[in-house]
Amino acid sequence: MKLPASVQVLERGWLSSNNIVFRGAAGTALVDSGYGSHAPQTLALLAHALRGARLDWLVNTHCHSDHMGGNRAIQDRYQCRTSIPSGEARLIEVWDEKALIFGFADQRAERFRIDDEFDAGAVLKLGDIDWQAIAAPGHDTNAVMFYSPEERILIAADALWENGFGVIFPQMFGRDTAFAETRSTLESIARLDVRLVIPGHGRMFTEVGAALERAFARLESYEASIERLARHCLKVLLVFSLLDKRSMPLASLPTYVQTVGIFADLNARYLHLTPEALADFLVADLEKAGAARRDGGMLVPLIAA
Ligand SMILES: [Zn+2]
Repeated sequence: MKLPASVQVLERGWLSSNNIVFRGAAGTALVDSGYGSHAPQTLALLAHALRGARLDWLVNTHCHSDHMGGNRAIQDRYQCRTSIPSGEARLIEVWDEKALIFGFADQRAERFRIDDEFDAGAVLKLGDIDWQAIAAPGHDTNAVMFYSPEERILIAADALWENGFGVIFPQMFGRDTAFAETRSTLESIARLDVRLVIPGHGRMFTEVGAALERAFARLESYEASIERLARHCLKVLLVFSLLDKRSMPLASLPTYVQTVGIFADLNARYLHLTPEALADFLVADLEKAGAARRDGGMLVPLIAA
């Protein structure tokens, strides 16, 4: 699991993405900034990792709220240059809350400044190492990964985790290409020579072949049943809300799944449940999976934020 001396991974929980800090002769950089409500913690961890240096450059793999939610606070602290994938820049400039899955999913992020954007194929020098930006559509159409051929390290963000990948949103936003995109991203990872993956969430791992096998199997199970994917999406989104709010009154859940756009949309398209039945299903399933439990009248998460 050895990392180059110029690279440090700050492993976070599931509300904030992992942060990767680079210190090189040419300056310092950070990949991904976590969720907004975690910004004070992110700033403290970052300051510690920088050991008194300034942050010169902030780069995002994609602009979901758990990857760019700390951008504004970090810009306010360091006035650093900020670069994001070109496809995401269009959405950030107009602050498309639906495509970025913010208000539509009851998530929040503060607007931030973009200094420049980069395309897949660009080479970014971070920590004195050349990283190729590789398109990683699927979980997010405009997402990129960063790969160092020299170090054989892949910063995969949400394209590949040790056990799965970032949730794919089925046939939403008028696009029905998410499965094909996810498959092509997994195939492009399989073509790389990777010794170590730094995922967007969870610990680093070296067993890349096994992780890819699990990811392909998961993708096939979703392709076989879009309802299964819709249920998975809803559970992931509710866990995210739970981690954000720390707990939610059980009695409020039927109204919540009826009024928060993405829950109502997925239910109406794929599951056709009453709000009460959807809330009951989600609570029971999260309890069964050990992700949450009932405590008095509240639902509380059992995984680390
Ligand atoms: Zn994401």
